[in-house]
Amino acid sequence: MNISLQDLSDRQIQLIADHLHHWTVKPDGTEGYRTAEVTVGGVDCAALSSKTMESKQVPGLYFIGEVVDVTGWLGGYNFQWAWSSGWCAGQYV
Ligand SMILES: Cc1cc2nc3c(=O)[nH]c(=O)nc-3n(C[C@H](O)[C@H](O)[C@H](O)COP(=O)(O)OP(=O)(O)OC[C@H]3O[C@@H](n4cnc5c(N)ncnc54)[C@H](O)[C@@H]3O)c2cc1C
Repeated sequence: MNISLQDLSDRQIQLIADHLHHWTVKPDGTEGYRTAEVTVGGVDCAALSSKTMESKQVPGLYFIGEVVDVTGWLGGYNFQWAWSSGWCAGQYV
């Protein structure tokens, strides 16, 4: 069945526009660790110096990268975090 836009009323066009603008995609699951690229959780950032990455409780102990509770969007942010936090800690160890 072919329907041309000119056959639709303003209200019908508005309804279609509303549907398009409020389109939602709801994931119903993940593929689990098999394809996981980053983990959530880890060493609490509040327990670390944001300048040196040194533990506040255990002087001389440093945490960087994936082991820290920092989770970036995909697209290089996790590598950036790993390298940057490593560089910071490297200035102080
Ligand atoms: C499949 C996949 C794809 C990804 N793609 C991207 C991406 O495109 N962009 C992005 O930004 N991030 C990506 N990530 C995330 C990114 O790889 C990590 O966030 C980053 O590598 C973390 O660096 P890291 O040095 O903290 O930890 P890791 O890279 O995990 O390094 C930890 C190292 O410690 C070693 N190790 C562990 N236990 C011991 C031990 N007891 N003694 C000695 N050594 C030990 C491990 O063998 C490993 O070499 C991806 C991750 C995965 C799994």
